[in-house]
Amino acid sequence: MNIHEYQGKQILKSFGVRIQEGIVADTPEQAVEAAKKLKEDFGSDWVVVKAQIHAGGRGKGGGVKLAKNLDEVKQRASDIIGMQLITPQTGAEGKKVNKVLIAQDVYYPGESETKEFYVSVLLDRSRGRNIIMYSTEGGMDIEEVAEHTPHLIFKEEIDPKVGLQGFQTRKIAFNLGLSGNAFKEMTKFIAALYKAYEATDSSMFEINPVLKTSDDKILAVDAKVDLDDNGLFRHPDYAAMRDTSEEDPTEVEASESNLNYVKLDGNVGCMVNGAGLAMATMDIIKIAGGEPANFLDVGGTANATTVKAAFNIILKDPNVKAILINIFGGIVRCDRVAQGVIDAYKEIGDIRVPIIVRLQGTNAEEAKKLIDESGLKVFSAILLKEAADLVSEVLA
Ligand code: GDP
Ligand code: MN
Repeated sequence: MNIHEYQGKQILKSFGVRIQEGIVADTPEQAVEAAKKLKEDFGSDWVVVKAQIHAGGRGKGGGVKLAKNLDEVKQRASDIIGMQLITPQTGAEGKKVNKVLIAQDVYYPGESETKEFYVSVLLDRSRGRNIIMYSTEGGMDIEEVAEHTPHLIFKEEIDPKVGLQGFQTRKIAFNLGLSGNAFKEMTKFIAALYKAYEATDSSMFEINPVLKTSDDKILAVDAKVDLDDNGLFRHPDYAAMRDTSEEDPTEVEASESNLNYVKLDGNVGCMVNGAGLAMATMDIIKIAGGEPANFLDVGGTANATTVKAAFNIILKDPNVKAILINIFGGIVRCDRVAQGVIDAYKEIGDIRVPIIVRLQGTNAEEAKKLIDESGLKVFSAILLKEAADLVSEVLA
């Protein structure tokens, strides 16, 4: 689950990571109030107005603007709130901005130069370990750095048995070219960041840029956080940070019904219990001459309610020419699933595509009988081969 920059920063701060402080605002008036409050707390007139959307590259798209007084805060906030922000990560249609973060300006001049770094923590699946990726080339497109100057990206692997070690945080600060107080600050920053990543069950924390201020503080100017959905039950306060207006509406609907759904480009919709069987079913569809229109795992409870929700989601896709339901009745009984399919079918009414139901396992014969006698336009099968042949037939 992705969250907004301002939410990511709240989490970071709670773990002792120094951040660019800010206050979120829904309206230009709130933005002005936020800027006044920041001045009271930090004494500076200058703030940045930052669009809050679930996509990076906001600076490039005009979603991050400096404001040097309250009039400018109001102006910039009214420009950005409500705008359709297009960035390299949103696609051509862009994303509507509903909130802005009013943040303290941290690029103030001082004793030494400011410097932007890149730091992220993520799981390296091929190594089965968490890694810290970092670079001196922060602030800009890290993808470009990776492509043109990959030697400027460093990786530090964390041994799960002992966790992040002091020598590693020092190595990172050293490789980033820091010394003195900034060096010490960076080691603390990395340790706190890693702690936040682990404790929140996250899949990624990407901080770009990490800023060294002109007075040698190290802080997070941006925060891109991806929390692991499977860990959210342990963190109800983070689960509440979900902003469904930022997500694909069909996938939101699916997750509300506890369905694991991924849309694909093919013509045969499928509804399966279990991820492994779902993968196998997609293979079967291909062998039968079709292309899967989606991945959909209905989970352990294939009753009328979940089947109906799954039908509705699959039928939203105009490319779907047939639906293959493939359920193995291990814990769930096939006849109950069959009844669920029949009830859902009747309730929805105008299902415009042929449906093939393959039920195998407990009470498979009774299930087939129920389907065959239902009088509906549903083809039943017990063997996978029969189901595949039926798919070929209805596509022909
Ligand atoms: P992104 O473009 O979505 O990655 O948004 P960021 O939060 O990374 O901000 C984009 C850019 O805005 C940063 O790389 C900085 O160059 C600039 N920026 C952010 N905060 C400040 C600030 O406090 N002062 C100034 N002058 N620039 C800032
Ligand atoms: Mn950024």
